[in-house]
This record gives sequence, structure tokens and C-alpha cells, in this order.
Amino acid sequence: MGVGQPRLPERIGRLREIASNLWWSWHPNARQLFRSLDYPTWRLNGHNPVKQLNSMAPDRLEAVSTDESFLQLYDQVIEQFDQAMSGTNSWMAARHSHLATRQVAYFSAEYAIHNSLPIYAGGLGILAGDLCKEACDLGIGMVGIGFMYPQGYFHQHIAGDGWQQEVYSKLEFKDAPVEPVLLEGEGVTRVELDRKALYLGVWRVRLGRVELYLLDTNVEKNHPLDRDLSARLYIADQEHRIQQEMLLGIGGVRVLRNLGISPAVWHANEGHTSFMMLERIREEVEIKGVPFEEALESVRSTTVFTTHTPVPAGHDVFPDELVDKYFARYRDALGIDRERFLALGKYGSPLSDGFNMTVLALRTAGYRNAVSKLHGEVSRRMWNVLWPDRLEHEVPLIHMTNGVHGPTWMAPEIATLLAKHLCGGDISNLVERQDDASLWSLMEMVPDNELWSVHQHLKRKLVTNMDERIHDRWAEAALSPDHVLSMGALIHPEVLTIGFVRRFAEYKRPTLIFRDIDRLKSLITDRTRPVQIIFAGKSHPADYASKLLLQQAHGLARDRDFQGRIAFVEDYDMHMAHYLVQGVDVWLNTPRRLHEASGTSGMKAAINGVLHLSVLDGWWREGYNGNNGWVIGPVELTSGPPEEDEIDAAALYSLLENEVVPMYYDRDRVGLPRKWTAIMKESIKSVAPFFCARRMMKEYAEQTYVPIMEKHL
Ligand SMILES: *Cc1c(COP(=O)(O)O)cnc(C)c1O
Repeated sequence: MGVGQPRLPERIGRLREIASNLWWSWHPNARQLFRSLDYPTWRLNGHNPVKQLNSMAPDRLEAVSTDESFLQLYDQVIEQFDQAMSGTNSWMAARHSHLATRQVAYFSAEYAIHNSLPIYAGGLGILAGDLCKEACDLGIGMVGIGFMYPQGYFHQHIAGDGWQQEVYSKLEFKDAPVEPVLLEGEGVTRVELDRKALYLGVWRVRLGRVELYLLDTNVEKNHPLDRDLSARLYIADQEHRIQQEMLLGIGGVRVLRNLGISPAVWHANEGHTSFMMLERIREEVEIKGVPFEEALESVRSTTVFTTHTPVPAGHDVFPDELVDKYFARYRDALGIDRERFLALGKYGSPLSDGFNMTVLALRTAGYRNAVSKLHGEVSRRMWNVLWPDRLEHEVPLIHMTNGVHGPTWMAPEIATLLAKHLCGGDISNLVERQDDASLWSLMEMVPDNELWSVHQHLKRKLVTNMDERIHDRWAEAALSPDHVLSMGALIHPEVLTIGFVRRFAEYKRPTLIFRDIDRLKSLITDRTRPVQIIFAGKSHPADYASKLLLQQAHGLARDRDFQGRIAFVEDYDMHMAHYLVQGVDVWLNTPRRLHEASGTSGMKAAINGVLHLSVLDGWWREGYNGNNGWVIGPVELTSGPPEEDEIDAAALYSLLENEVVPMYYDRDRVGLPRKWTAIMKESIKSVAPFFCARRMMKEYAEQTYVPIMEKHL
């Protein structure tokens, strides 16, 4: 226990242990425990119980420690927590008990677990966070390696002219759910970068039994100029990036060794982490004296690699000079020459330019996967060049479609309603059986009026949350009235609401819906059947083109002609994502074809009965069944922009005018949109059992982790 933390009464002495294990964040009882501890401090501290406990008045703590109903909940949570920590009742223990102590090391540049730990930028982090939580739920032994990023990703403010401002804030370590391990002194891990050595401190984050180790360069042994290397996520400078990636991959392996952890399986999430494989080859060569090619084979046989990028430009590629500079001595340790080394990151003939991190991963991992069925096809086509003597469908790169963590993303109100009608009110049974389609076949039993009323409740919650944000921003800054209105002050819970919520990347076409302004205007301002659009999303700080798109969307949100029915919500993050994926009516997704590897936000929306309106790309290619949402435009289109934009925009308007809007406002005598609720049910029924992290993790386990563990018993 640190200095200055209030002492807990003995009867509730384990509160801090629960608070510092993020397991609480996806268990409703545990969340309720902190909420009922003291609601004002819970809210004031951004739903962060570590911070909350640090700021609680001692007499309030004394008071709850004798409150019967609080203690009852406390005991319940402790029992559930101890059960989870023992791992004895888990899926893994039941199916593969002899492998229960084996561990998977998961390497990822970002993790989205909870807002109190802002170490993620977007979808990749969400996937990593959901995957670790599910590993915990299934009892799969896992340790994660990532970065601490004390300044995290930025907070987004939009200036009066619609230009994105990036605000970086410093993480208060004492208020974050992290514990220092190997932070100073002898324990720190050393990595050589060019001519200098860098040292890594480590923080531990707990997710039930899963442990995440976050690397941090801000330690005393480092020169002050080097300490900020891990301060921020995705710095644009190439030299900083290669340094960060060396720390993550090479440093990550060394940290695990220093901690005495011996993983049976190594899982590299996206190309940024591929130096991890090199470091393990180096260990074999240098420490065990194994020849390079043999070491490479052995590392391959225990490595899983997941690629997330469907377009060539999306991969991390470093210039040869940079690789020479940083790996000259390292490749000596591997016992190979410059040509052999550089070839690990190149393809084709003549060899491609630069050192491609995805290629390195594909060459050094024996188990490779894409993240949706369609992305599998695209990836096999793209990487056929690495296996030139094989046909495209024989390229050894399979797909394991992404899924979202149910307990994190399904609104508790929806889960309660579904549990009531599908499994006798038992939410834990709903969670346990979420990937069992037969559970969801009972969706017809859910009464339309109950589903609709829960949905309306979630929509009002979203609007209330937006109002609170507007209030806070108005109170802290001198904003013009039209700026305030653009944040959604006039958004009305009864109006059909479309969400366009995602990173402002060009390929996602955030302004597609603005292609014909007049047609959009008549849709939005229709007197009897109006439409609202809520935008949210960040631009990458160095992406000028994307900032221009954002500015354009923001400008229209301030345009009086739209009557306040277009809103732009600032600072999209996990917390805001919850309100949005649960609270709008329609989730709009308009990527250019073959550019979205999977996408997960649409899955989160769909399991909450928010209907997907999307181009048939990424996960939707396998998710759409004809009755569970809508498809924009033709399946395939080879023309590309601008014709693709023209065709899709026209298809989008006509879908909205002829199907979506009329259906939403078509009400029966008691005011229910029966056709709409039927699609809501079909959406939940068809998406929840398959596009969940549980199904995904069982696939990773059965197809990769378990076979690898079995082979190396
Ligand atoms: C789910 C989620 C994403 C991923 O969204 P896609 O656009 O579907 O890839 C990104 N950011 C946040 C905060 C999310 O919650």
C-alpha cells in the first residue's frame, strides 16, 4: 500500500485488490459495488475505482463497512473474484486440463481495457483488450506485453474553425490500475539501440489471472532525452518508431525472461511486434548455439501472427539504412550477413524496397491469420508473392474472424432483458453460452415492446451523456453558440439517429453521406420523418487529409440549414463508444471495398440491436444474412474512386429514403415499429453468437495455442 492512501476498514479490506484488478470492469456486480460505495466520487473520478478509493472520505468508508446490503454485495463479488482467480471452473481447465498451466505471450502495441488506462488509439487496441479479457474468462493462461505510454493517445478538442486540436495529458500513476515491477535498480531490462543502451521499467496490469506487462522508458538509468521514447503512441518519426518497435519486440522478450516467465506460445499482434521473433531466434543462436536456419524453424513452430492490414500502404516498412544502423551488430549475433537479414523483410524479385515488418512476421511465424473471411482472401492474394510456387488458395494464411467481448460491449440493460427471456434471468448463463447459437434461437420470445423500451432508454442515456459533455465544455471554454450546438445540444431522442463513429481515415469515407447536400438536407429536415447524424472520431495527428475531412463534417454540424440535427461528439474513446454503440438506431459504415480488414464497432452495435447499414466489406461480408441490416451498393465494384463514391452515395440515399426512414417511422397502434424491432432481434440473434470474442478465442485456442502446446509438452 502506497503512502497517503486512506486505510480501508478490515471488513472491506480487499476493496483495493478488486479495484486494482481490471476484472471488475466487465463484471456488473463489481461495478455496482464501487458505484454504491459512493456514487458522487465514482462519477467524479471517471469510473476509476483506484482513484475513487484514493479520494474517499474515511468516515464514508467506515459507514459502508457496517452497511448490510453493501457487505452482502461485497461478499458476493469477493467470492466471484476468487473463483475467477482460481481458474478451476474454466473452459480451458475442463477441455485441456493438462495444459492449464501453459501460457501464451501476447505482444501488442496497444491495449484498450478501460478508460483509466489510455494506452490505445483504435480498433487494434480494442481487439487486443477484448482478446485478453476473453482469455481470462476462458481460463487461457496469458501474459500480454505492451507499452505504458504515460501520455497515451491524445484527447481531441475541436477548435472554432473545426480543426482538430490534440491535447496530451499525463497519466497519474498513483491513480491508475498499475503496479510497478522491475522499475528501478538491477531489475530493469536493457536493450541496445545503435550505439547506446536503453533501459526498460515495467508496470503490471491485472485482468483476472491474465497479466499485462507494460514497458516504460521513463526510468532513472536512461538519459533524460531517451525517457520520452515510450511516452506516446504511434509517433510518426520513422527512427523513433523503429526504436519503439525494438523495445517492444526485443525488450518484451527480455522482460519476460527477467520475470522468469516461459511462454509456450508466442502471439504477435500486427507487424509492429515482429522483432519479438528475431529476439527469440537470437537467444537460440547465441545462448544455445543453434544455427540460424534451425533456430528460425524452432521459433516458427511456436509463433502465431495476426495481420490486420488489407492494403499494402498500411504496413510498417523501414528504409534499409535505418535497419542497417540499428541491426548491424544484432545480425552478427544471429550469425547471418546483411543480405540474409534484409531478405527477412523483403519479397519478390527484384526484392522490394525497405524492410517490411509484416513480411518479417509472415516469415518467422508458423501460424498466420487474417481477421475476417474476406480479409483472409485479400491477404492470401497480397502475400502469394512469399509462396510463389503455391496457388493463391494454398497460401498458408488462414482467417480467424474478430469478435467483441460480450460483457464489455453489450449494454447491461440489454443483457438483463435477454437473460430474462433466453435463460431464466441468469446473466452468467448468458455469458457462458454466448457462442451457442441454440441459446439465441429463442430471440422470438423477447417481446417487441420490452426490447424497444430498453433501446429508447439507452438512446436517452446517450443524449443525456452528450448534454453533460456540452455542459462541461461550455463551462470550461469560451465556445461560440453554434459550436455548442454542433456538439449535439439539439439532438432529440425520438428522432431516427444514425451514428458515424470511427477514426477519420480517408478510406472509411466519413463524408460520403455529404455527396449530395440537398438530398441529405431534405432527408434530415423532413417535417414528419426527420433524421439525425452523430459523428465522432479522431484523426491521426499527422494525417492532414483526414483532419480536413473532419473539419468538413464539423462545418456541416454547425450549418444552420441542418437545424442542429448533425452533431459532432468530441474525443471519441472507449467510454463514449459504449454510449454510442448502444444508443443510436443505425450504425453507418462506408469503407472503400477491400480496405476494412474486419471492423469491430459494427459488431458492438449489432449485439445491442443497433442496425448495421454498411458496404459489404470486412466482417459484414460474412455477417450479413439478408435480414439483419442493410447493404450499401453492389458487392463488388472494381472501378474505385470517384465512381465507387458516386454509386455508393446514390445507393445510400435511396436505402435511407425508401427503406430505413419509412421503416423506422412505421408504427403500430401502440407506437411500436414492428418491422424495425424484428430486424433488431435478427441482428442480435445472428451476430451475438458468432462475432463474439468467446468464439474467436476458442478458435485461436483450438487451432493454434493448443496444437502448439501439445507439440511442445
Ligand atoms: C470498437 C472501437 C474501435 C474500432 O472501430 P472500427 O471502426 O469498427 O474499426 C475504435 N475505437 C474505439 C474507441 C472503439 O470502441
